[in-house]
Order: sequence, then structure tokens, then C-alpha cells
Amino acid sequence: MSTSALGVVFFALGLIWFMWRRIKPNLDHLEDEDIEDFLAKRLSEKEQKQVREHLLRCPACKLRMDELTKKAQKIKPDRWLKRRF
Ligand SMILES: [Zn+2]
Repeated sequence: MSTSALGVVFFALGLIWFMWRRIKPNLDHLEDEDIEDFLAKRLSEKEQKQVREHLLRCPACKLRMDELTKKAQKIKPDRWLKRRF
């Protein structure tokens, strides 16, 4: 009996871990700056990958990226230069 109880505990822990892993990336959403850096490819390879993965999973941040992309296209080139240098 105690063996099956232990099994239930491990199953529950595994489930919690699995859910936490799935939920966690969605909890820390991307900052606007992260998305801007991602679009400008200013992040490291690892960060680019993390941002890309988050965007694939998170419709809210994807929407935000679309908005920022539209906004970025409207930004005058001199503002981009100022930000970069
Ligand atoms: Zn997000």
C-alpha cells in the first residue's frame, strides 16, 4: 500500500514539474526591448533561440512583435542609428 502511495506522490510531482516547465516560459514574457533586440539580431545566439521559442509558444508576445515590427518600419533611419551607436 505504501508503495502505491509513493507512486501517486511521484506521479503528482512529475505532473507538477511537467506543468511548471510548460507554464514557466509563458510567465516571464518578453520585454519590448527583448523583442526589439531580437528583431535587430542584437542578441546572442542562445538568446535569439530563447526569444524565438517563446514567440512560437506565446501568442501575446507574437502579437507584440508584430506591433513592434510595424512600428519599427515607421521609425526614421536616424533614430535607429542613434539607438545603435
Ligand atoms: Zn509571452
